[in-house]
Parts: sequence; C-alpha cells; structure tokens
Amino acid sequence: MEGKKKEVRISMLNCSNATRDLNCCSVSCFADLQKRRGAFAQYPEDVNIRLVGVISCAGCPTRAYPEKILKRVDSVMQFRTEYLHISNCMMAFCPFVNKYIEVIQKNYPDVKIVKGTHTEHVTQEAFRQSMVTAFERGKGMPDIILGREND
Ligand code: SF4
Ligand code: SF4
Repeated sequence: MEGKKKEVRISMLNCSNATRDLNCCSVSCFADLQKRRGAFAQYPEDVNIRLVGVISCAGCPTRAYPEKILKRVDSVMQFRTEYLHISNCMMAFCPFVNKYIEVIQKNYPDVKIVKGTHTEHVTQEAFRQSMVTAFERGKGMPDIILGREND
C-alpha cells in the first residue's frame, strides 16, 4: 500500500494596491503555484501543496502600527499555515514590507516566511512603473499581466 504523500500548508499575503485597487485575481501566483515555478519551486514534486488561504494587506499602517497586519495573517495562521508567501506585488510596492515580516515572524515564530510568489518577469522597479502607468491610465493588474497597461 502506498504511503500518504507529505503535505505542506501554504498561504499568500498580497498587497491591496494590486488586489483591491488594481483588481488582481492573483492569476500569476496561482499559475506558478500549480507549475511549481518561481518561489514555489522550493517545494519538492513529491510533496502536496495545500493552499490554505490568500489574504490582502489591510492598508497603510502608518509608521506607527505595522501590527495591523496581524489580524489578516491570523486568519490563515488559525488553519495551520506553515509557509507564508509574501507576494511579488507586496515585495515590490510596500515600504513597510520588512517591518511586516519582522512583526509576523515575532508573533508567529514557527511560520516560514518566503519572499515572493510567481516567477519575476521584470525588475521590481519596472513592476512599480507599470503600476503607476496602470493607475494613471485607469487600467488594472490584468492589463499589466497581459502587457497592455500602456495601450
Ligand atoms: S504577485 Fe502579481 S499575480 Fe500575485 S497577487 Fe500580486 S500582482 Fe497579483
Ligand atoms: S501597506 Fe504595503 S502591502 Fe499594504 S496596501 Fe500599502 S503598499 Fe500594499
């Protein structure tokens, strides 16, 4: 009889500028999760990846209160998230990202934080510029992903 496959339980934390304001449905994150590319390549093929949940940042914490992120993170930690992926958009857009990571790690010392999600196709600076263009032209993250934010 075959043994049960080992499983890892992962969640993703996204930037609300991408998901709420620019309507990202996390399509590239999910695609590379399924193909185990980008930051998901670290999981061996013989391990099942259980996606526990996807959360978005609650918005600007000001310089004063990065702990604001914990309420969101707790919703996936309650369901035994082992690896928390900080999405590419959050890594590229967020001035508070290192503070968030510090606060999350302090409050959930067992969770493994992974910086990034899907394969990076452009530099963080180019990604930020695409975001600016999308905002200025009334476009969304789907336009950026499909390369038409300048249209
Ligand atoms: S990393 Fe990209 S695909 Fe994933 S949620 Fe952020 S903007 Fe969307
Ligand atoms: S605080 Fe950071 S992660 Fe949250 S919405 Fe603002 S830029 Fe995005």
